[in-house]
Amino acid sequence: MTPHLRRVTVLGASGSIGRQTLSLLAAYPHKYRLAGISVHRRTEALERCLVDFSPEWVAITDDQARSDFAARTRLSIPILSKEALYERLTTDPGDIVVNGIVGAEGFWASYYTLQHPTARLALANKESLVFGGRWLAPFRERIMPVDSEHSALFQCLHGEALESVEALILTASGGPFRGKKRPELEGIAPEEALAHPIWKMGSRITVDSATLVNKALELIEAYWLFGLSVHRLRVWVHPECIVHSLVLFRDGSMKAQLSLPDMRLPILYALAYPEREAFPEGRSDLARIGRLHFEEVDEETFPSLGFARQALAQGGSAPALFNAADEVAVEAFLSGKIHFLDIFTWIAWALAQPEAALDPADPFELAAIEKEFRRKLACNLGLPTYAG
Ligand code: MG
Repeated sequence: MTPHLRRVTVLGASGSIGRQTLSLLAAYPHKYRLAGISVHRRTEALERCLVDFSPEWVAITDDQARSDFAARTRLSIPILSKEALYERLTTDPGDIVVNGIVGAEGFWASYYTLQHPTARLALANKESLVFGGRWLAPFRERIMPVDSEHSALFQCLHGEALESVEALILTASGGPFRGKKRPELEGIAPEEALAHPIWKMGSRITVDSATLVNKALELIEAYWLFGLSVHRLRVWVHPECIVHSLVLFRDGSMKAQLSLPDMRLPILYALAYPEREAFPEGRSDLARIGRLHFEEVDEETFPSLGFARQALAQGGSAPALFNAADEVAVEAFLSGKIHFLDIFTWIAWALAQPEAALDPADPFELAAIEKEFRRKLACNLGLPTYAG
């Protein structure tokens, strides 16, 4: 093995971030080598992947899917369980771990990766920081944001002192319902919420960008990633999704990062950091685009950012329960159990529950509180089969 090859582990390899990361590894074989790969249950693309990249190990975290896969393939490399994966992340995760796992479960992969003394975490799983930011923040120097907004902020802050920052301004597309008021949102069907104008993403994050909960989670994510107080974090709606975020400095100067909305760019930046890799595709032709628009968020119609500020102010288990409430409520909305605007009602309800005022001592205790809370909420929402 050539010594300068960076060993990259891809977690959540069957998801959108995972697949795009693999496409980049395939495009830069002289720079990166796949160390390990994980999926939860979707093993369909895995065999092809093992042939193309020959990783050192593979993890399949769902027990049934793992035994099915092991029974139908003959592999000379280890097939790890979830526990064995966490062990591997702690001891030998490679140089960079790309966490593209979906949902709060992704926290644990981040947590164990950062237990390793040197591995860098390329973090696309924003729930890691929303769920357990205070246990990951001490390692923030090894966390490379892969969320496009946070990658933009990271790039703008490169070479700058945090003391000179007045505010971080996250941009939001505004989602498919930008400009609409509450009465127009009452009868929204799942299909309408799933039609995002710019980004193609998974269904939960697409609904989350329609409710602006995604931006609210990103506010919490930014809070832990950059260590600035919440009143220095702002959000502007920017429907073109070209400016991915901005930093306002105390001298009144601003820096912004601009590019086409393509998740491969923040992934590649995280892989190549502190260098920049040549990437021949897609240049944003600003002269042709002509105009970029920015506006304030309509927080009366979309109260999500207020919930994020409230959750951060409450601290303890509140941000994790905010996320859990949204995850369960979105599932209920997508299965036709509740209306679109009810998602906000249930998040507000979650933050008012007694368990949202608890202050767990470690992430294990928080996980137990969160699991029990999900069960309680799912019960209230009529999702009896919810196993979360
Ligand atoms: Mg984002």
